[in-house]
Amino acid sequence: NPVEADVVIVGAGLFGLVTAQQITEHTDKTVHIIDIRDHIGGNAYSYFDKETGAEIHKYGAHLFHTSNDRVWEYVNRFSKFTNYVHRVYTTHDGEVFPLPVNLGTINQFFHAAYTPEEAKRLIEQQAGEFAHIEEPQNLDEQGKKLIGEPLYNAFIRNYTGKQWQTDPSDLPASIIRRLPVRFNYDNRYFKDTYEGLPADGYTRWMENMIDSDRITVTLGVDFFDENQPYSKGKLVGTVPVIYTGPVDKYFNYELGELKWRTVDFKEVRYDEEDHFGVPVMNYADADVPYTRAIEFKNFNPERREQQNPRKTVVWEEYSRFAERGDEPYYPINTDADKELYAQYKERAAAEPQVVFGGRLGTYAYYDMHQVINTALIAYEKQVKPLLQ
Ligand code: FAD
Ligand code: UDP
Repeated sequence: NPVEADVVIVGAGLFGLVTAQQITEHTDKTVHIIDIRDHIGGNAYSYFDKETGAEIHKYGAHLFHTSNDRVWEYVNRFSKFTNYVHRVYTTHDGEVFPLPVNLGTINQFFHAAYTPEEAKRLIEQQAGEFAHIEEPQNLDEQGKKLIGEPLYNAFIRNYTGKQWQTDPSDLPASIIRRLPVRFNYDNRYFKDTYEGLPADGYTRWMENMIDSDRITVTLGVDFFDENQPYSKGKLVGTVPVIYTGPVDKYFNYELGELKWRTVDFKEVRYDEEDHFGVPVMNYADADVPYTRAIEFKNFNPERREQQNPRKTVVWEEYSRFAERGDEPYYPINTDADKELYAQYKERAAAEPQVVFGGRLGTYAYYDMHQVINTALIAYEKQVKPLLQ
C-alpha cells in the first residue's frame, strides 16, 4: 500500500464526501480524499463575496431539494437548512412570466382568465397530435405534449436551444420532465417535499460532513498525474479507490468521448440593493445570448442584515459544448452517448477494487439529493464489501 490510508477517494464532491463520511461512521478505516481543484465540495462549492455579502455558488446556482426522507434526515445531521423556496421567472418578448409553466403563465400569455379545467382543455387542443403520444421519445415531443406548441415555442424551444445546442428531437424527454406543469397558481419550481439552503453555506455543510480524524484531504492533485503519490498507476489494484471523475477519462478515452455541456459565467455588479427581485431570471428568447442570470443575494433573504444594501452581484450563464479541459457539467445523453457509456460501464465493473460514482463517474444528470442517495447505496452495496 503506497499511501497511509485504507481507501482513497478521487473527488471531494458530494459523492466522495458522503462515502468518506459513511466509511468513517461505520468502520474504523482511514480515508484519504484527493481533488484536482483547490477546494472541497465539487460543483456544490460556494464562497462568500466580500463586497456584497452574497454567497456565490462557484459552479452555478445550487438549490437543495428532495422527497427522500432518508436523504433529508442525512443532510440535516451536518447543517441546518433555511426555509428557502425556489421560484424562477422568465423574460419573454419584453414581459416577465412565472415558471414553471402554471395557470399564471398560461393566463398571462393568452391574456385570459381560464379556470384550471379550461386551461387543460386548451393545452390539450394545442398539443394536437402530440397529446396522443403515450411515451414521448424525446424532449420535443414531451414538451409539446405537456404544454402545447405556442407555450413550448415561447418558453422552451429557444431556451433549450441555448442550453443544449442540440436538436430537441435528439434530447431525452427526461430533461423536460424535471419541470412540473401546473394547472393552478402554484409556482414552486420543484415538486419535492423538502427544500432549503444550507444555513451557513454549502462549503460549511460539506466541511462538517468530513469532520473526522480519520479523513484527510489533499487538494490540487490530479489522479492521472503519475508524478504524485495518489495516482491511478500507483493506487489501482493496491488499495480500494472510489473514483468520481469522468468515466471516459479514466479509460483514457479509449472507446471514444462522452459528450458534455459546460457553462461559462459572466459576472456583472450593480450599485443597487436588488437587481431582479428574484434569485433567478431565465431568458426564453434567442436574442439574449445567455440562458439565465443568477442574483446570489436573493437566495438568502435571511442574511439581509449582513448584506450590502448598495451592491449586488449577478452571474449570467452561457452554455456550450464542453471540450477536453473544460469542466464537464451536463451529460448530453444522446443515444450514441448512452451506448458508449454502457461500454464504459462494463469496463468500470471489471476494474479491480474501484467503485465509480457520482455525476461524472456514472455519466448521469443527477441532482445533489440523487448523488447523496446513490452514494449511501453505493456505500452499502459496493464500498463496504470492498473494505472487508
Ligand atoms: P462533482 O461535484 O463534480 O465532484 C467531482 C469531483 O471530482 C470534483 O471536485 C472534481 O474536481 C474531482 N475530480 C475530477 N477529476 C479529477 C482528477 N483527475 N483528479 C482529482 N480530482 C478529480 N443539483 C441540485 O440538487 N440542485 C441544483 O440546483 C443544481 N444545480 C446545478 C447547476 C449546475 C450548473 C451544475 C453543473 C450542477 C447542478 N446540480 C444541482 C448538480 C450537482 O452539482 C451535482 O449533483 C453534485 O454536485 C455532483 O456531485 P459529484 O460528487 O457527483 O460530482
Ligand atoms: N427549460 C426551458 N426553459 C426554461 C427552463 C428550463 O426550456 O425557462 C428546459 C431546458 O431544456 C432545461 C430543462 O428544462 O435544460 C431543465 O431545466 P432546469 O431548470 O431543471 O435545468 P438545470 O437547473 O438543470 O440547468
